[in-house]
Amino acid sequence: MSGASLPSRHLGLDLGGTNIKWVVVERHAGDWRVLDRDQVATPAADGPDAVVQRLATVGAEAVRRSERVISVGIGIPGLYDPAAGTTRFLVNFPGAWAGKAVAGPVGAALALPAFLINDARAFGLAELRLGAGRGASSMIGLTLGTGVGGVIAVDGQVLQGHDGTAGEIGHQTIEPDGPWCNCGNRGCLEAFARADQIAVACGTATAEEAVARARAGDVRAIEGLANVGRYLGIGIANMVTVISPDRIVIGGGISAAADLLLGRIGDELRRRVHTTSLDEVEVVTAALGTWAGAIGAAIHGAEEAERKDAAAAIPSVGAR
Ligand SMILES: [Zn+2]
Repeated sequence: MSGASLPSRHLGLDLGGTNIKWVVVERHAGDWRVLDRDQVATPAADGPDAVVQRLATVGAEAVRRSERVISVGIGIPGLYDPAAGTTRFLVNFPGAWAGKAVAGPVGAALALPAFLINDARAFGLAELRLGAGRGASSMIGLTLGTGVGGVIAVDGQVLQGHDGTAGEIGHQTIEPDGPWCNCGNRGCLEAFARADQIAVACGTATAEEAVARARAGDVRAIEGLANVGRYLGIGIANMVTVISPDRIVIGGGISAAADLLLGRIGDELRRRVHTTSLDEVEVVTAALGTWAGAIGAAIHGAEEAERKDAAAAIPSVGAR
């Protein structure tokens, strides 16, 4: 633990379909703060090589600006191989991403240990360490947007599973024979609660319009959102029964509508959770906004670099 009391700096890159966001965070004892941040366009249409190259150049610029950065974490909007540092499948990214090396080339370009994390898990890690989950012993988080991302933290650690996919709360089955989900299963929570399905449930073109109409008193939008809240509540109740969290954090683009959903979520929790006391379970909205993914990626890189020998953790480029 030598040097634990000295501040250290860590870069986080959040790969999104539209933008790459980056932050440099400083860690001092148990406290984290954001020193610098910015974003650039993602050249998604130019394919994987261009995207990885952009991650490397953006990261190099961030490290130059902040100096003394000692690790990098990269938030990935999809599936990846944590040990190899390669992607398996990215939602909404054209090109051959299966087996694409990301941690290796970015880490080599920056001469830093580099680690991948799913973007929803990065969101949760950031909220847990310095956002709405701070102080919780165990937490579940959901990001409501074009999909329903999820994260589970137990005893202060975000669960990753063997391949980084632990916490896919949005892909638990809510209705055995429900509508098809993009993942291939039927009746997932996401199949009821992702943005386009919120719009369908409310008879509107978009989820944003559904929220606006509900606020204006439109009965169909109010009922549609209540039904979405019911499914979310069932999914969250399952998680509370299994995980026994003391904090539930709702984030993502639709979280601005959380006040319209929380009533029904609470109803389902009280109806379905009987094994643990709900008195200590807080349901809150996320605190860090759209930067949570980059912040969480930075924290993940810091914590992974600390866990492993930094030198051995830089994957060798082109190996295998
Ligand atoms: Zn699914």
